[in-house]
Formats: sequence, C-alpha cells, structure tokens
Amino acid sequence: MSSPDVNRCDLLLVGGAVVTVDDARNVFDPGAVAVTGDRVTAVGPAEQFATWEADRVIDTTGMAVLPGFSDTHQHLFQYLMRGLGEGIELWPWLEGFIWPLSDVIRPADAIIGAKLAAIEAAHSGVTAILDNHYAPTDIEATLGVAASIEGVGLRGAVARGMMGDPTDIARRHNLAGEIFAYTAAEELAITRECIEERPPGTQVGVWPAPVNIIYCDQDLMRSAVALAHEFGTGWHTHCSEAENDPVYYLEEYGVRPVDWLYEEGLLGTGATLAHGIFFDDREVERVGETETGIAYCPISHEYIGLGVMRLRDLRNAGAKVGLGLDGGSGHRLDMFACMKQAVLLQRVHHKEPTASNGEEVIELATREGARYLGTEAGYLAPGRLADMAVVRLSGAHHTPLLRVVAALVYAGSPADVAYTIVGGRVILEDGKCTQVDEEAVFEEAAAHANELVAAAGFEGLLEPWRTDLAPSQ
Ligand SMILES: [Zn+2]
Repeated sequence: MSSPDVNRCDLLLVGGAVVTVDDARNVFDPGAVAVTGDRVTAVGPAEQFATWEADRVIDTTGMAVLPGFSDTHQHLFQYLMRGLGEGIELWPWLEGFIWPLSDVIRPADAIIGAKLAAIEAAHSGVTAILDNHYAPTDIEATLGVAASIEGVGLRGAVARGMMGDPTDIARRHNLAGEIFAYTAAEELAITRECIEERPPGTQVGVWPAPVNIIYCDQDLMRSAVALAHEFGTGWHTHCSEAENDPVYYLEEYGVRPVDWLYEEGLLGTGATLAHGIFFDDREVERVGETETGIAYCPISHEYIGLGVMRLRDLRNAGAKVGLGLDGGSGHRLDMFACMKQAVLLQRVHHKEPTASNGEEVIELATREGARYLGTEAGYLAPGRLADMAVVRLSGAHHTPLLRVVAALVYAGSPADVAYTIVGGRVILEDGKCTQVDEEAVFEEAAAHANELVAAAGFEGLLEPWRTDLAPSQ
C-alpha cells in the first residue's frame, strides 16, 4: 500500500545519466525519469525518486537515458536494396538504380522493406521517422508502409511522394519513366484519401510530398502545400540536393527554388526540405525567417559526394535543422553514425574543429528533429511524450566513461541501445523489438529483395568484387 507522500508512476527509469536536452540542457547523473501513460511526469536527480513506486522500474545504471531520435528524412523501401548502387552521381544513381527499382517494386515489397527498416530504426534509438515514401504510392502501399512503422511501435509520418506530370527538366534528364504513374490530380486525390485515413493525431500520419521541387510541376507544389494546410499536416520535398539543381531551376523558371517557395508563401510552419545544400545567402535567410525545417543528411551527402550543408548559417538564421539518414544512400540506419558524421563533415569542410560538436548534433537528433516533425517529444521534461533511447555505456569502447555526450556521439552505436521507448511503451529490449517477430521479417524481406534484384535486372550489381568501380582520381 502506498502512503500519500509516495509518488507513483507507470514506468521509472533510474540510475543512469539522464541527458534531458531540456531548456537548461540539464544532465542528471545519476538521474531518473518517471512516466505515466504516454508522458514524462518527472525528471531529476535519482535521489529525489528514492520513495517513488512504479509498475515497472528499469535500472539504468551504467547507461544514458536521452530523448529518442527523430530521423527526419527517410526512404525506408530503399533498404531492401542495401549494398547496391555504389559509387555513382546523384542523377545517374536515380536514373540507373533507384528509378528502375521504383518501376518494379510492388506494395508488398515496400511494406516489408519499411518493416525491416523500422526494426533497424528501433535498434538505433529512433522513436520517430519521416518516411518520404515514393514507390509504389498507391493507397495500399502508402497506408501499408505507415502500418509497418506503427507496427514496430514508432511514430512519425509517411510523406507520400508525388510526381505528377513530367516537367521539361525531368524529361531532359531522363527522369520521366514509370515513376510518373499518376497525373497531378490523381496524386492529390490519393494523398487526400491517405490523409483522411491517417489524419494528424494518428501515431503515423500522412503528409503530401512532391518528391523534388526541381523536377515537380509548380502547380503540384502549390496544391500539395494547400492540401497540407487544409488538414494541418506538414509537407516535404527534396530541395537543392545536387549542385546543378538550383541551376536547372533558375534556367527553367528564372528564379531559385527557395526564392520561388518564399515568394509563393509556401515556406513556414509545416514546410520541411530535405538536404538544402546549395542555398545562396538570401535563400538561407528566407528559410530561417520562416523557420522552415531542413533535413541534414551527412552520410548521404558524403556517400553520393554531393556537398556540405551550411549548418551554421542555417541554424543562425533560424531554420529548424534535423538529422536524416536518407534511405539506401546510407546502407545502414544508424543515428549514432549520423550524429558523428554530422560533426565531422562540418569540421573537415570548414577545416575547423569548432564547426560543430557533440552537444549540437544531439540537439539536432532529438529536440530539433521533434520540432521539425511537430511532435511533442524531443526533450525530457514533465508533459512531454515519453519517447526515449536508453544506451549502454559499458564495454571497452566506453571505458573510461569521462563524458557521456562524447561517448554517445563518437563511440556509441546501435549495438549499445538497451531500450527504445515510444509513448511510454518499451518497443525494444533484450536486443529485440517487442512488437514484431524480427526473424520472420528478416526472412521475408530477404526473399522480397532477391525477387526485386531479378525484376529490376540488377544481377550485374551483385559481382562480389567490382572492377568497374576504380576510383577516378
Ligand atoms: Zn532523399
């Protein structure tokens, strides 16, 4: 029986270093987090919780407890082709690899691919995903992918990729294949129906996402944003990912892409742009002024050899910058690697070790990512959603443990994640996801991947040692 002065909660995490990322950036070590229902109810030094009672107590001694990570730009279906598509530039990569895959992928492939990747995300401490799903995009596939993410226990949104009618830019660059499956009107109608099925407030919602402002029609962009505003969802697109993207746009329309979005009044609440590498000074200012979300995807930028996002300038201007793993261009859904690369890429680019740091990228992965996604998570304080990653800080790679933040960013890995918790529910523990049969998903995903390799004609990419990939310089 509990006395009146004993505090109760459903779940109590106690003993570990609690990295709150709250307004004061408190770190309580040892600390505790109390959860009731789907919310955090109390956070503080462990000693303050000595008399607390809970339905479940998790001893987090030797671990870090931090807000769950938000992965702000994904293409989960691409993980089915993990390991292929090596060493080619962005547009040839799209034309010769991703788009042929998109032509043959069926709803069942995308659905199992998303489930596989969502499992991997949970192992990486990710609690929310923005999945820019663009192949296939019928209602069955779109809602099925959302169900896959939710089935693993994660939250987030499926940003349904829309192509509409091929533009001149798309045609000129051979990007006008079967991926342009629907007219703009059909794209909007399907997206509307999917949003009605999963409106804002559902664990995994649906957002409109014209795939890329550079090769999607301007009317489709306007209509997509209007649809987002009508329902109160976010919206998403790729923007200025490759150096030539704004050049092509300027040639075609006489305006840079962000300037056009700004002048049309499309930026601001709910606007999220993937990459944003090649912005000029005015575009940086405009993205900042409107507090538009930008997904920084360092591993993707490195892998495809794209360039370096203006992290410092964008954050100083006011943009909401989250971290993203960007599908198959990373091969692995690893938020620890993403955080580390987010720092290192800035440092090598600026030739300056102060260009970014561990504290900053934890903020991007947690607090800023949640702001970008519009979830009430991202930091640990009373009233916030109880979305958390609990990371083991033991073993040779974490000894001696002198600074928790440095250990997480520079030495941490998904193998260290002991618990992933979403809305107070433990979705990963003892090295396994609790809501799905992992082995069955792995087996099914591998079978679908083999079928896709054959259907897309990718057998040539399976050479165990490729001699056609000799470095060019
Ligand atoms: Zn992408």
